[in-house]
Amino acid sequence: MDRPRITIFDTTLRDGEQSPGCSMNVQEKLRLAQQLDRLGVDVIEAGFPIASDGDFEAVQRISASVRRPIIAGLARACKGDIDRAWESLQGAAHPRIHVFLATSDIHLKYKLRISREKCLEQAREAVRHAKSLCADVEFSPEDATRTEVSFLSQVVEAVIAAGATTVNIPDTVGYSMPEEYGQLIRTLRERVAGIEKVTISTHCHNDLGLAVANSLAGVQEGARQVECTINGIGERAGNASLEEIAMAMRVRRDRYPYETGIVSEQLYPSSQTLAEITRVPVQPNKAITGRNAFAHEAGIHQDGILKNPLTYEIMTPQSVGVPDSRLVLGKHSGRHALALRCEQLGHPFERRELDEVYRKFVVLADRIKKVQDCHLLELIQEVKAAAKKIPPVGAGLPFARAAAVGGAGESHSLSFAAPAPAASAPATFGEHHGEQEEHLWGV
Ligand SMILES: [Zn+2]
Repeated sequence: MDRPRITIFDTTLRDGEQSPGCSMNVQEKLRLAQQLDRLGVDVIEAGFPIASDGDFEAVQRISASVRRPIIAGLARACKGDIDRAWESLQGAAHPRIHVFLATSDIHLKYKLRISREKCLEQAREAVRHAKSLCADVEFSPEDATRTEVSFLSQVVEAVIAAGATTVNIPDTVGYSMPEEYGQLIRTLRERVAGIEKVTISTHCHNDLGLAVANSLAGVQEGARQVECTINGIGERAGNASLEEIAMAMRVRRDRYPYETGIVSEQLYPSSQTLAEITRVPVQPNKAITGRNAFAHEAGIHQDGILKNPLTYEIMTPQSVGVPDSRLVLGKHSGRHALALRCEQLGHPFERRELDEVYRKFVVLADRIKKVQDCHLLELIQEVKAAAKKIPPVGAGLPFARAAAVGGAGESHSLSFAAPAPAASAPATFGEHHGEQEEHLWGV
C-alpha cells in the first residue's frame, strides 16, 4: 500500500524566530537552515523579507547555500511585500512565495479595516501577482479557523483560480479543537472547486496545547503539508512541534499511515542546535527532545528498561538521535541499575561488594539529587579501599563536596572512614528503600 507523503514545512526561522527571546542573526539562521536540510524537511520558511534587512539577507543567503529543500519567503498580500520576497529568493533552487491575508471578520474589521469583498479581491490579486513571478505560490487565510466557513471557501476557491499551489489553513490563535479542525479541512475539500489540484496545509498554534493534535487531525482529513517548528517554538505558546509530528507518524504508523522525509536521527541534534543558538533551553519534559524524555529514575522502571527497553520506551533514544537512554541514578534507583552503571564504569561487583556500594550510594543519593559518574567512582574507590583495609586517601573530601552541592550542609561527610554517618546508613536505607529493595534484589 502506498502511504501518502506528507510535506514537512519548517517555519522555525520565520514563525519560530518571532517568539520572544528566539531572534537569530543571519549567521545563526544559516547554520540552522543547514541543520534543517540534514533533518530532511521539505520546505524551509527562511524569513519575512520585507520585515527587515536582516530577514531579507537571511532568505538570500539560505537560498544561495541550501539547495535541496524549497525555500519560502513570507509576504503580506501586497505588491511591495511580494516583490521583496521574490527578490530575496532569486538565488533559490526551489523558491516559494508565501502570501497571507487575514480573512476572519474580527481581523477584517479591527486590524485591516476592509470589507470581505475587498479582502477577496486583494487575496486574488496578490496571488495572481505572485504567480506571475514564481510557479510555487502558497496562500494563507490568516485566522482561518475563526473565519466564517462559507467566506473562507470563497477565498480559497479564488486563490486556487488565481494560481496558488498550496493552500494553508492556519489556526492562528490556537483556538481549534482536533475534531473541529479536521472537520474544517473536510468541509473545504467538499465545497471548494479545484481544491484537489492543490496541497492543503496545516498551521496550528499551541495556545491550548493542541497544535500537534490539530495538525494530525488535519492530515487525517486530507491535508498533505504540515507547518511546524523545532521544539515547537513560535508566537505565544508556539507552533506544532516538528519532532512530535514526525515521531507520532513513525511510532503510530498503524493510525497515521503517512511518510515524511524526516531523518529522525537528526531530531535531537536539530533541537540542540536551536537551543544552543537561541540560548532558550528545551523544557526537560518536552516530548522527544527534552532531557528527561528518555530518562528513567524509578527503580521498577529502570529494572524493566534494562531487561527490555520496550517495557517503558515506545521508541528508542537512538531513533531520534539521543546518544543513550540515560538512567538517572537517584535515590529511587535500584541495585540493578547501580550494578550496571558500575560495570559500565569498569567496576563489576560481586553481590556482597555491591551491597556495600549500594548502602553508600543510598546515603549519598539522599543528600544529592543526582549521583553522577564522578561521585560513583569516588564511592567505588572508597569501598575497594575499605575492602583491602587500606585507609582511603582523602576519602572524606569528595563526599563533603558532593554534600555541599546538594545543599545538605558541610557537617556531613559520607566517608565511611568517619564513624557517625556509617552507623546511620543502614537506618536510612531501611526507611526509604525497603519496598524497592524487595523488588529489585531478586533480579
Ligand atoms: Zn503562525
